[in-house]
Amino acid sequence: MPIAHIHGKQLIGGDGSATNADTFVATDPATQAVLDPPFHEASSEEIDRAMTLASESADVFSNTSYETRAKLLEAIADGLMDAGQDLLDRCHAETALPMNRLQGERARTVNQTRLFAEMIREGSWVEAKIDHGDADRSPAPKPDVRSMLISIGPVVVFGASNFPLAISVAGTDTTTALAAGCPVVCKAHPAHPGTCEMIGKIICDAVKATGLPAGIFSLLQGQSHQVGHSLVEHPATAAVAFTGSIAGGRALFDTANRRANPIPVYAEMGSINPVFVLPGAIAERAEQIAQAFIGSLTMGVGQFCTNPGLILIPSGDQGDQLVQSIAQHAAAATPGTMLHSGIHDAFTKGVARIKDTDGVQLLSQAKGPREQACCTIAVTDFAVLQRERSLLEELFGPCSTIVRYENASQMIEVAQALEGQLTATLHGSDRELSEHQPLIRSLQQKVGRLIFNGFPTGIEVCHAMVHGGPYPATSDAHFTSIGPAAIKRFTRPLCFQDFPNDYLPAELQDANPRGIMRMVNGVFTRDQ
Ligand code: NAP
Repeated sequence: MPIAHIHGKQLIGGDGSATNADTFVATDPATQAVLDPPFHEASSEEIDRAMTLASESADVFSNTSYETRAKLLEAIADGLMDAGQDLLDRCHAETALPMNRLQGERARTVNQTRLFAEMIREGSWVEAKIDHGDADRSPAPKPDVRSMLISIGPVVVFGASNFPLAISVAGTDTTTALAAGCPVVCKAHPAHPGTCEMIGKIICDAVKATGLPAGIFSLLQGQSHQVGHSLVEHPATAAVAFTGSIAGGRALFDTANRRANPIPVYAEMGSINPVFVLPGAIAERAEQIAQAFIGSLTMGVGQFCTNPGLILIPSGDQGDQLVQSIAQHAAAATPGTMLHSGIHDAFTKGVARIKDTDGVQLLSQAKGPREQACCTIAVTDFAVLQRERSLLEELFGPCSTIVRYENASQMIEVAQALEGQLTATLHGSDRELSEHQPLIRSLQQKVGRLIFNGFPTGIEVCHAMVHGGPYPATSDAHFTSIGPAAIKRFTRPLCFQDFPNDYLPAELQDANPRGIMRMVNGVFTRDQ
């Protein structure tokens, strides 16, 4: 299917709309060339129209069959593949991400969309629970109580700039919300608006082909923060999914909480993903650790939320050897163009701030053109870290700080000083895991995912994955934004008490007509 020409308008229930004369443009981060066409900022009227359509279609959509919803997701996955090279070319022009990375990211996006289609079709995701009543129970009869998850209503989605395919318009949040039966109004990321429009059209075509109401998906453009805040404030919005910076996520979270009826904001934000290297690991494989660490740090020019921004290495000769090896790999790392000039400016300023911090030494900085980001390693010790807590803040890009530690209690103190994180990583031997239980327990309180002898970049999309963590890694540590469990964010449990069997949803009827896994009187079963 050839992609239609990019028009720079909003896509509201499948129709193009441009009622606001204010426009902005996308630029190629590698050349700063302006990319056509200009994009219209969404007007208040368009925001209201998109949300009203979403609200009007919510009831019909939440009651569609799982088969129809699965087909919608499969049509989106097919459309992403059918878009061929055109989509990747536009995405490359807007983000400077290399073509092989974009091919991989599209494959991942398509696979996760198909995984959600499978899950929806199977049906057990509704977590049906049945507790049979007992009229003869004494002293009071026991009611018949049944519950399941239902869709929450229209969801506003904000994607991140660093995953223009996997965490943007057809990314994990949109897919999850549509799978749950929630209409989606997506705020396009202003750094890749053309990619957003192309994907938006694919979703609109899939909605049409599946015979669903057009209002279940709209895409709004906007460079001003106002578009996003107005979407969050709109009375029809039932929940918000955000991936991006702490400042952006927090601002939208605060807006949602100022509403007369506050709504959930699932914001996935920043993290420094600390790595703790224990002595046994250095003795066994210092060179591999150094190489893999720099590989993880520089992947995607360090523009990953799971980027390892802090690494703790023991003092002493062995630690010195590892530091030296890291410095060599860092100096040899290839510099890269960042996603947009704002991210590059923030990176440059952040590196300068670290360099000027008393007691911190810039160990290595790869050389490259001014407009590119070079792998940068800073080194300091525990005493300086205690004083300079800003070293524990995320710097988005290929920069990491090595902290030399003297003993286990210093590692525990660092773990306790951390804010909430998406991940923490331990490198060591099995024996060291048992010796460092207090450190592991401290880290468990701080992170969503603990990694052993690996690195945090590269998130497996699978049932057990947790991509989340305590604030500020996310705004709600109870949920993951990646993997099938992400659907829970856009559902809520509904309970039926003493309802006649015929008036219950099929998932809760005695005969279990969908054949789904349910908890009946406390026991998991697919039986009737
Ligand atoms: P961003 O600048 O926060 O942008 C994300 C979206 O939020 C955009 O649509 C942006 O549009 C909007 N936005 C930003 N600030 C806003 C504000 N104050 N009010 C209203 N809307 C606002 O983030 P990014 O540059 O795309 O991504 C980089 C950051 O995302 C990094 O910090 C990275 O760690 C994080 N990230 C986290 C995860 C995760 O899963 N935890 C994944 C990927 C990236 P406007 O600017 O037009 O308003």
